[in-house]
Amino acid sequence: PDSTTAQGIVTAEMVDDVARKHFPPCMRNLYGRLKGDHHLKHFGRLQLGLFLKGIGLPLDEAVVFWRRMYGSTMSDDKFNKEYKYNIRHSYGQEGKRSNYPPKSCQQILTQNQPGTQDAHGCPFRHFSPDNLSSFLTMTYPQIDKSSSEMRDILDSVKSTHYHVACTRVFELTHGIKKGEGLGDNESVAHPNKWTDRSRELER
Ligand code: SF4
Repeated sequence: PDSTTAQGIVTAEMVDDVARKHFPPCMRNLYGRLKGDHHLKHFGRLQLGLFLKGIGLPLDEAVVFWRRMYGSTMSDDKFNKEYKYNIRHSYGQEGKRSNYPPKSCQQILTQNQPGTQDAHGCPFRHFSPDNLSSFLTMTYPQIDKSSSEMRDILDSVKSTHYHVACTRVFELTHGIKKGEGLGDNESVAHPNKWTDRSRELER
């Protein structure tokens, strides 16, 4: 089935652990905001929701996951009426029944530019350099704020090579030599590729 990967099913219960170990920066940001605010705006829900489908969260677990994340800030009635439909829709179970694929980096970088209240998008492209370096050091303790690696990352961002910066973060957080990327010099072009590769490396 579409919602399972080589690593098998991810349950609602497992998401937190998988996030901590295997989410790329864009998804760490979205998940962190969702956890803190018990809320995400439309494009954030879409970006994170399709990504989670791609890592192997089945529809019934997605419903459990989102219900839990919204918590008591939302009534069951509102959740069932407004949100459940959208979750089912993104799994191809409502409306046109299209099974929407998770978004690629290219789509995240160029579509639906986030406003100041939004959490979707790509931190390398959409954060200020200051916010980006704080966010990266808070999220990934392997990266030091005043290190030459951080300067490298910010230089890549400055020259708009966002995938280079993201690939460097992958290498630094997985003990991989510079230039090897996801393996065979492949750079990050899809958030789900980051997670799939990261989970493979763990096994
Ligand atoms: Fe996410 Fe891609 Fe940006 Fe990395 S480069 S943070 S995977 S959108």
